[in-house]
Amino acid sequence: MTRGILTALLVLSAGLALAARPNIVWIFSDDHSYQTIGAYGGRLEPLNLSPNIDRIAKEGMRFDRAYVGNSICAPSRATLLTGKHSHMNGKYDNRDAFNHDQQQFQKILQKNGYQTVMVGKIHLNGKMQGFDYWEVLPGQGKYHDPDFITEAGKTHYKGRYVTDVITERALNWLENERDKEKPFMLMVHHKAPHRNWDPADRHMSKFEGIEIPEPANLFDDYSGRETAANLQDMSIDKTMTLKNDLKVEGDRWINNPRYKERAKWFAAHKPEGQELVKWKYQTYMKDYLRTTWAVDESVGAVLKALEEQGLSDNTIVMYSSDQGFYMGEHGWFDKRFMYEESFRTPLVAMWPGKIKPGSVNSDLVQNIDFAETFLELADAPIPSDMQGKSLVPLMKGETPKDWRDSLYYHYYEYPGAHSVRRHEGVFDGRWKLIKFYGVDVPGGAEWELFDLQSDPAEMKSVYSNPENKAQIKRLKKKLNALKKQYQVPAVPTEQKSGKAKRK
Ligand code: CA
Repeated sequence: MTRGILTALLVLSAGLALAARPNIVWIFSDDHSYQTIGAYGGRLEPLNLSPNIDRIAKEGMRFDRAYVGNSICAPSRATLLTGKHSHMNGKYDNRDAFNHDQQQFQKILQKNGYQTVMVGKIHLNGKMQGFDYWEVLPGQGKYHDPDFITEAGKTHYKGRYVTDVITERALNWLENERDKEKPFMLMVHHKAPHRNWDPADRHMSKFEGIEIPEPANLFDDYSGRETAANLQDMSIDKTMTLKNDLKVEGDRWINNPRYKERAKWFAAHKPEGQELVKWKYQTYMKDYLRTTWAVDESVGAVLKALEEQGLSDNTIVMYSSDQGFYMGEHGWFDKRFMYEESFRTPLVAMWPGKIKPGSVNSDLVQNIDFAETFLELADAPIPSDMQGKSLVPLMKGETPKDWRDSLYYHYYEYPGAHSVRRHEGVFDGRWKLIKFYGVDVPGGAEWELFDLQSDPAEMKSVYSNPENKAQIKRLKKKLNALKKQYQVPAVPTEQKSGKAKRK
C-alpha cells in the first residue's frame, strides 16, 4: 500500500470517528425542584406537571441521587462550566466575580471540533468564552420583555416571554445557523422558575381551581434542629412578600392584567394566620408551576425540532437544574441548605441506543460531574484538575466499582440574602452530617446529623444521641478525607463579612 493511500485511509477513519460523536443538548433550568417533575413521583405527581421532561426519563435514565456542591444559582453554573467545587473555581456566592479566563469544558470541546452554543441564563457577569455563539440574559434577566446580550450587544424582546425567546433563539441556531458537518453542544438555559415566578399570559389560568397538596411539614417549628433552620429568612410565612412574590399589593401588580383579579380577591378577603400561609402556599405553587409548564413546553419543542431534523438518533438530551428548591417543605421556598430538597437536583438523560429506556440510577452524582461527562461524550481529554467523574459509564449501566461513596457540600453566602448560615457537610446516601459555622452560629459551630432512612424529611437531628457516636466519628473522618481530596482550604470559624475573611 502506498503512503498516499494509507494517509487517505487514516484521514477517512478519523473523519468517521468524529462523525459518530454525539451531539449534546443540555437543558438547564433555575430552581426547578425534583418534587415538581412527574418522573420523580411524590405528592405532586398526579398533577402531571412535566410530560416532556418525563418523556426524557421514560425514554432514557432518571438519576435519583443527583446533588449539587453549593446550592445557589451562579456558583452552580460556575461548577457546571469548570467541573470544580466553588473553592477551586473561585465562585463562592452570587456576589463574587467569575474568572472567565480559567479552564472550562466548552473551551476544550471547541478545540476538539465541537460547535458550542449557550442561550439563556448564565448569571456570570462578563463575556462568555469558549462558545461559538452565546446569547444570554443580563444577570437574573426578566420574565417579560427580556433583554439578551450577545457578543454584538443587547437585544430587547418587547412583548415576549423569556422562556419562549430562549427556545426560539436556541432552535434558530439549530435550524439555521449551525455547521451541519460538525457535532454540537447546545446549552439551553432557562431563567424559570426562579423567583418571582411570573408566568406567561397564556398560562395564568392553568391549575386554577386545583388544590395543590401541601407538604406534611408546611408548619415546621424547627424544634428538632439547631440555630440555622430556626433563624433563616426564607419562609412562606415571614419572608414571602404580598407585593413582588404573590403580586397582590403594589401598583405594578394590582394594575397588571395577569394579577388584577387575584389582587381584588385578596383585598376583599384578607386571609390571616395559618389561612394566610395556606393561601400564600397555593398561590406561590401555582405561579411556580405555570413557569415550569412553559419550561416543559420548551423541552417538548426542542425534542420535536431534533426529530424533525433527523438528529434524535445521535443526540444525547439531558435535563437538570442549578439546584433544588423548597416547595413549602419546612415552610420554605428558596434553597441554600444542605437539607435534601435544595441539595438534590433533577437529572434525566436520553440517548437512543446507549441509555436503556426507563432506567434508574441511584449512584451518588454531583454537579462537579457534568463537565467531565460532556468531555467524555465528545471523546475529548478530561483535565486531571477537574474534580468530578464522567457519568457516561453510569448511563450505560456500567457504574465503576470504585464510584464515590459520599458527597461533599459547602454553602458560603452568609451574611447574605435569606440568612442561611454557612455550612459544610458530608452525605453518604443515607447519613448526612452538617456543620454550621461562623458568625451568628452559637459557639462558632453547630452540628446536625440525619438518618434519611428513618427521617427522610430531616425533621430531627440525632447528633446528640449517644448511640450515634461511632457513626459521627466515621462521618467526620469521611468529611476530612473529602476536604483533603477536593483541596478545601481551612475556613475560619469567626468572620464578620463573608468576603473579607474567606481568603
Ligand atoms: Ca438557582
